[in-house]
This record gives sequence, structure tokens and C-alpha cells, in this order.
Amino acid sequence: MEQQETILKVKIRMAKECPKCHSKNLKEVEDKTKAIAYFNHQPIYRKKAVCRDCTYEWFPEGGAE
Ligand SMILES: [Zn+2]
Repeated sequence: MEQQETILKVKIRMAKECPKCHSKNLKEVEDKTKAIAYFNHQPIYRKKAVCRDCTYEWFPEGGAE
């Protein structure tokens, strides 16, 4: 683990496994359709998790969808 873990990491929880098939073969993409916040003038996007096995997509931070 590096020391450069940012505050953002604390706020935006990463997906650990797929809620459908419990695969850990995930990728995360940013939902760039809208910024949820700005941090140091950088837009923060919602992270969307995508399961590579079953293609299920969800928002791991538990936002509305
Ligand atoms: Zn899955």
C-alpha cells in the first residue's frame, strides 16, 4: 500500500465482488455523465462497477439508481 491513498478513496468505496455472481473479476468505470463533486477543481465522478463475468453494473457506493 502506498501512502498516496487519498481522501477520495475513503469517500468512494470500491466494489469488492459482484452482488449477482460474487465474482471478484471486476472493473470500475467512471460515470462521466455528471460530476458528483469537485475536489481541487477536479470533477469527481461516480464510480460504476462492472462485473466482467456476468456484465452486471452497479454503483458500489450505494447511490440511487
Ligand atoms: Zn457478476
